[in-house]
Amino acid sequence: MEIEPESTAVRAAGHHYVDGRCTVCGASLATNKIALPQTGGTGSLQPLFAVLLASGKTLVASARSVSKRNS
Ligand SMILES: [Zn+2]
Repeated sequence: MEIEPESTAVRAAGHHYVDGRCTVCGASLATNKIALPQTGGTGSLQPLFAVLLASGKTLVASARSVSKRNS
């Protein structure tokens, strides 16, 4: 069957993910930046925060080193 225009409207309204895949447009949840890790579990968000914290510290560290060089 061809994809009807109505499916596009539904897609714009929002995705409906089941098992990491959108049942509306078929998009994979992995393409989303805030995608839920497939490992599952409530503690699966911790690695994400760790990465965010690490990148933030790196930015601060590099900014400090740059200002040191400039002074
Ligand atoms: Zn979708």
